[in-house]
Amino acid sequence: MLKALIAISAALTLPLAPVIVFAGALAGPQSQTQSVAATCAGWAGETPTSVELDQGQMNRAATIYATALETGVGAAGAVVGIATAMQESVLGGHPAARTPNADGDVGLFQQRSLIGWYADGTTQDENLRILADDAYQARTFYLGHTTNSGWHIPGLVDVDGWQQLTVAEAAQAVQVSAYPDAYAKHEGLARTLVTLFSGNPAGLANCGTLDADLDCAPTGMPSEKGQTPDALRVMRCIHQKWPQIKSLLGVRPGDPKDHGSGRAVDVMIPNYFSPTGIALGTEIAEWARTNATALGVTYIIWREHLWSVARADEGWRRCGQAASCYTGPDPSAAHLDHVHISVHGTQGTGTTTLGSGAVVLPVDQYRLTSRFGDTGPRWKKAHTGLDFAAPTGTPIRAVTDGTITRTGLAGAYGNLTTLTTADGTVIYYAHQSTINVTVGQRVTAGTVIGKVGATGNVTGPHLHLEVRSGGIPTDPDRWLRTRGLTP
Ligand SMILES: [Zn+2]
Ligand SMILES: [Zn+2]
Repeated sequence: MLKALIAISAALTLPLAPVIVFAGALAGPQSQTQSVAATCAGWAGETPTSVELDQGQMNRAATIYATALETGVGAAGAVVGIATAMQESVLGGHPAARTPNADGDVGLFQQRSLIGWYADGTTQDENLRILADDAYQARTFYLGHTTNSGWHIPGLVDVDGWQQLTVAEAAQAVQVSAYPDAYAKHEGLARTLVTLFSGNPAGLANCGTLDADLDCAPTGMPSEKGQTPDALRVMRCIHQKWPQIKSLLGVRPGDPKDHGSGRAVDVMIPNYFSPTGIALGTEIAEWARTNATALGVTYIIWREHLWSVARADEGWRRCGQAASCYTGPDPSAAHLDHVHISVHGTQGTGTTTLGSGAVVLPVDQYRLTSRFGDTGPRWKKAHTGLDFAAPTGTPIRAVTDGTITRTGLAGAYGNLTTLTTADGTVIYYAHQSTINVTVGQRVTAGTVIGKVGATGNVTGPHLHLEVRSGGIPTDPDRWLRTRGLTP
């Protein structure tokens, strides 16, 4: 199986329509260029670690994605299409892409503009106009083109069993390029983008596969309490894979870093000063690194060295004097006695089915703009919730298990979803742009229930999270904190 990539460094907005709007960057000025990193551990392809795409390229990729859905080749076809267009024209960004080459090849997919090829104009100029339409090229890539003389130029759907081919093989079957291997290196980027467009960044990380024999069942350890789904899975897999590990630590309330929010695991290594202990810790650290993407790992620290997904290609880097990555005589601070593993929270596990009790934050990247109890002209009395500002389209997750009890427009709340938990607490998710669930649906913590929007009484896109107990709004920040999460 092919392993792909992933890590997106910027907040993207992900409509299903072929236009991407970069609304409301989380911090700093809005950027027209997005850096899309392809850093899946274990990805064997010649994958660049990061690709800068401008808005035009993002829009063209979105067009290829939308056209894939339209033509029925789905997300898998979209991966092939985007990888192909990346190789052929750098997603239309290559300066030469709009000028036909010696063979008359032009545009997003470098389709031939000569009479009798990919367009049915009566002159090459007319064909150039037809082929300047990116959606036309994408459609033709997928469905092929039957010329006026009745010759069918094959598209992806004409390739028998294309779903079983590698991305590079499928691309080559359509393009018949002189460089058949060139497509493979864009697979990681293509998968990243398709995952984004499908509105499921939770699936971003699932480009690796964990050991098939691991079921990562609950450990029964009290330290599972308050851990996010990703952290729980890391704990459980390690517990199962290395039974000699007797102590796994998780939440440390008040920790300003990942231990405070249930996003870290400390794997305590027995006899850490012995060669066996060092070998064991190294084995676990390497396992976490190799499976980083599938596990949702962000960084690992072991024996005064740090490895992070963001700088994966630099390998293990030696720590300095910082408290979080320290080199020095304190064995605990120097991470000699334990492997520290930080995770995203819900990215590796996606929509978690790890069982009840998990609590997760509702959005991945956000800025808190308004707290419970704030007063101001926008609210009748005091603010009844906690506001997570994030770009329109950012997925919203169920913070805990429950049943959907209401969906739809609700005055100042705009598009509202409510989720009722087993103890009768009602969680309000307001101002959504999209609602992904229906009344009566059971959801587990981490399930994407909709997307951030700006409907109702708002000044910008955000999620208004409200927690009602006995019908009375209580402080969501406190509610989350008492469950081990720090928003
Ligand atoms: Zn730690
Ligand atoms: Zn609010």
